[in-house]
Amino acid sequence: MSTTSFDGVIHSDVLTRSLYSTDASMYEEQPQGVAFPKNVNEIRKLVTWAAEHKIPITARSAGTSLAGQATGNGLIMDVSRHMTKILNINAEQRVAHIEPGVIRDSLNREAAKHNLLFGPDTSTTNRCMMGGMIGNNSAGSFYQAWKYARSYHRNRSHFERWQSGDIQAVE
Ligand SMILES: Cc1cc2nc3c(=O)[nH]c(=O)nc-3n(C[C@H](O)[C@H](O)[C@H](O)COP(=O)(O)OP(=O)(O)OC[C@H]3O[C@@H](n4cnc5c(N)ncnc54)[C@H](O)[C@@H]3O)c2cc1C
Repeated sequence: MSTTSFDGVIHSDVLTRSLYSTDASMYEEQPQGVAFPKNVNEIRKLVTWAAEHKIPITARSAGTSLAGQATGNGLIMDVSRHMTKILNINAEQRVAHIEPGVIRDSLNREAAKHNLLFGPDTSTTNRCMMGGMIGNNSAGSFYQAWKYARSYHRNRSHFERWQSGDIQAVE
């Protein structure tokens, strides 16, 4: 695979492609390659390049999906390696600016310092990441008690900015 306009790293060796051919489900599909973007700019370049070459991209954070959502036969874009920063938490506005590879429990450890909590309590909170939680609209037992404790609902008002790479978590 050539990497003309994307200057980040794409692995297309057999081992990497095999490792990324599954998630936590029984589905298996080998991608053509796996990219590890370091920032939003690299994601933009990657998406442009893949569109030009008509290669589908499947984003992946922790890969704990149970129905093959994190697998695909094009390019896997793994944000879990480099895009793991909590950029800031604005306690007054109850908004956190984060990268998509932030683990849910890590966000809550920081949020707790401001007496805040990101509610959706998926069973995998000690490893699943915010990009994947929003992608799956993840929820957990709190959903029964607090009707809107699902990831997409928690992010809905900021979702477009999230798509452009400025990830947001609220409350
Ligand atoms: C034992 C076990 C228990 C579970 N319990 C629950 C539960 O209680 N509730 C629940 O809801 N789920 C549960 N799950 C499923 C899964 O753990 C959650 O949905 C989790 O939030 C997914 O996060 P992830 O980081 O692993 O996402 P991934 O599996 O990596 O991705 C999930 C989806 O989001 C997309 N995505 C990932 N990153 C991005 C990004 N940066 N930009 C755009 N799209 C992106 C992916 O393409 C994919 O479609 C469980 C799974 C296991 C194995």
